[in-house]
Amino acid sequence: MRHLPTNNMNLFFFFFFFFTCLTVRINLCFPNIFPLKTLELDGHFSFDHQVHQAARDFGNRFQFLPLAVLHPKSVSDIAITVKHIWDMDTSSELTVAARGHGHSLAGQAQAHRGVVISMESLKSPEMRIHAAGDQSPYVDVSGGELWINILHETLKHGLAPKSWTDYLHLTVGGTLSNAGVSGQAFRHGPQISNVHQLEVVTGKGDVVNCSKEENGDLFHSVLGGLGQFGIITRARISLEPAPAMVKWIRVLYSNFATFTRDQERLISVEDTFDYIEGFVIINRTGLLNNWRSTFNPQVPAQASKFKSDGRTLYCLELAKYFNPDETEVVNQVKFFLKNY
Ligand SMILES: Cc1cc2nc3c(=O)[nH]c(=O)nc-3n(C[C@H](O)[C@H](O)[C@H](O)COP(=O)(O)OP(=O)(O)OC[C@H]3O[C@@H](n4cnc5c(N)ncnc54)[C@H](O)[C@@H]3O)c2cc1C
Repeated sequence: MRHLPTNNMNLFFFFFFFFTCLTVRINLCFPNIFPLKTLELDGHFSFDHQVHQAARDFGNRFQFLPLAVLHPKSVSDIAITVKHIWDMDTSSELTVAARGHGHSLAGQAQAHRGVVISMESLKSPEMRIHAAGDQSPYVDVSGGELWINILHETLKHGLAPKSWTDYLHLTVGGTLSNAGVSGQAFRHGPQISNVHQLEVVTGKGDVVNCSKEENGDLFHSVLGGLGQFGIITRARISLEPAPAMVKWIRVLYSNFATFTRDQERLISVEDTFDYIEGFVIINRTGLLNNWRSTFNPQVPAQASKFKSDGRTLYCLELAKYFNPDETEVVNQVKFFLKNY
């Protein structure tokens, strides 16, 4: 055996103690993340500088830096992680938040010095559409799936979900944790009313199926539960035949009382429109130029009525679904609007 010279020996001990102390220091600073690194997963964790994106959301008002971000490849990745955190000493105070597309406005999908689960990484189960037999059609999707992808896939079968949000680059888990509201809600209810079944990872790390009939308490808590009652890993969503064509109409109001009166009347009358949504327009200039309207902007008398001039205006957005051979539907819509 060859002996190291004394100088080299000192150097060796210096570096040995330096790195040992460094590791101990890091462990003391972040005692919670090291056990996470030992978990056997299909996906992976990211740490350090890679977690910055999960500290922000669409609102851009709150920045809560997590210690780690889980990119799950399977439901068991989520279950193992949540169970591990549940089993930790309560003094760890490690929090967990599911993150969909991060379109919350106030930090709801963030976890300060905790673990964020990036749900868009979860690609299982593969999207599966069931349209055979007597049962009404439905689709099984991952909780991290974007609604825009569900639309594209279901349209291939001539089907579409019954209830939507206006904007579709949001995840299933993200909107089902809120409500999911758009112009179909007056007819079908929000998105949370159009779900048959969920698979959920509970706070203890158990994987549980739930529906109105099975584990109903969990089902109703998770829907609209702001991510506080479990993590949605799969959802079974109700479908209907997609409309072949749509007549889309926007109607402008300058008077709030008339606007709300018309909207309330339209949603309460049977068989009017398939989509009704009202919104407020504040401080919009050039409104008529990019407005596909029910009136002719070239007719000065009509157009001047709708010059915003900084005023608040109100808009009803309406849609009627129809098949190409049902031209009388379009005429009915015209008649309806004229006589309303
Ligand atoms: C541009 C824009 C347009 C919008 N349009 C509409 C609209 O038309 N209609 C409407 O209703 N809303 C709308 N919203 C609001 C939007 O629906 C919510 O902010 C929704 O939560 C965002 O979905 P996300 O996938 O980005 O979820 P995130 O913001 O990532 O998460 C939202 C919440 O859900 C939780 N969560 C996420 N995934 C899961 C999961 N798998 N299981 C359990 N909990 C989970 C999170 O922890 C968090 O509490 C809009 C928001 C924006 C920014």
